[in-house]
Amino acid sequence: MSDLTRRNFIKALGMSGVAASYGCNTVLPQSQPPEISASVFPWDLADEGIENVLDNLQGRAGANSIYMCNLSQSIRPFRGGEYTHNPVRKSYTCEDCHIYWKPDMKHYGKIKPLRTKRDFLAKSDWVEDLTTALRKRKMKSAVELFHAWIDPIRLQEELPDAIQINVFGKPVITHNYKNHVVCHNSPEFQEYAVGLYSDLAANYDLDYIQTCLVPYVLPTKYFVQNLPPDPIEWALVATEKGGCFCNHCVFEAKKKGFDLKEAQKELQVLAKQDKKAIMDSGITAEEYLKQNPVLKRWLDFRCESINNFFHLISSAAKSFNPNIDIRWNHYVRTHSYYSGVDLPSFMNHIDSIRANAFVEHQDNMKLVHDKVKYLENFENVAGDHVHWVAALDIRGKNPAVLEKSAELSSYTGCDGYALSHYGGAQLKNLDAVKRGLQKSKWSKHFK
Ligand SMILES: [Zn+2]
Repeated sequence: MSDLTRRNFIKALGMSGVAASYGCNTVLPQSQPPEISASVFPWDLADEGIENVLDNLQGRAGANSIYMCNLSQSIRPFRGGEYTHNPVRKSYTCEDCHIYWKPDMKHYGKIKPLRTKRDFLAKSDWVEDLTTALRKRKMKSAVELFHAWIDPIRLQEELPDAIQINVFGKPVITHNYKNHVVCHNSPEFQEYAVGLYSDLAANYDLDYIQTCLVPYVLPTKYFVQNLPPDPIEWALVATEKGGCFCNHCVFEAKKKGFDLKEAQKELQVLAKQDKKAIMDSGITAEEYLKQNPVLKRWLDFRCESINNFFHLISSAAKSFNPNIDIRWNHYVRTHSYYSGVDLPSFMNHIDSIRANAFVEHQDNMKLVHDKVKYLENFENVAGDHVHWVAALDIRGKNPAVLEKSAELSSYTGCDGYALSHYGGAQLKNLDAVKRGLQKSKWSKHFK
């Protein structure tokens, strides 16, 4: 498939802004197939064989782009249960935040990546082997770096001053694994991040590097709602649940003329208020931020920090491979401003997005229609600026729901799908994706 991203396509036409959006929707060559990406873990490949996995994903689900997850944590399948087609194991306990390629240590400084030590994985360079197999099939090859890039024990032992702290000086705890979370303004962590992106871009023939790195912690419920209420609740708890007020942040804020130490005092007063009374008053988040500009300044500073971080890693990767695509896995989904991702400015530092809105694992067709609305809204925000794919959860029990989602989501403006995760999916679900694609607006590509 063509490597033209939407952004490049607009550039090629010499168009920009709103005019380009309409032009782009109507003049994008209809012969262009969508990108159907899918995620795999290295043990899927080791246990089932790379060619077998690719036969399944390409043949049964129409995949033309594969990304392999690195730096994962916890037990897979993630929501419990057992693998259904893995011939070797029923589940897999990850080595915390390890990588599955052979790192080129010259790219790293104080923090070095941890490579898998398990024999059945350590004997291969999985990024190299998978990429070689994908190129033979003319498929895209990519790596995903998961939510945490450094394991929590090392973070505590080797980079204690890089742990995000909240308004009361306490360590922030992540929503998913209940771990500490790293501060993106830490120079040592930035050096490590630049190392990871440089290493991958310099040494592997990758189309994109995707990440779902935790920016700032959000309440879990925002991950499951399609059309959420006003974010006032999160505005009220942001300084307690999330960071950061560490010394690195104080230093970075000062450069921007923002006195974070002074702001922290004011924000502590706000954090101690009776939140229920404020909620009951019916005030919106927007009004609340207007009333408390110090909170708005702090939230903006977090977004600026994340923008700076992605600018660093993107610049590093592109210095080795100008064509590499920096992809953001938008798992934060709604109200991302409250987790440090201000999409309008953030999109200046990335090339593409995987829009996460998992609903297919729930046996509820209404959620598919809610999801379509979410994706249409996402297109309004991001469609003019980046190539984006809609995530489909292929681990559910009802293929009919998945099939319908694979049909309807195509009409939202997305440029394709991201199927997650292969290992936990029943193979009949891959067939359901294909049936959905055959009814989608891209049907002619999936005869
Ligand atoms: Zn910090």
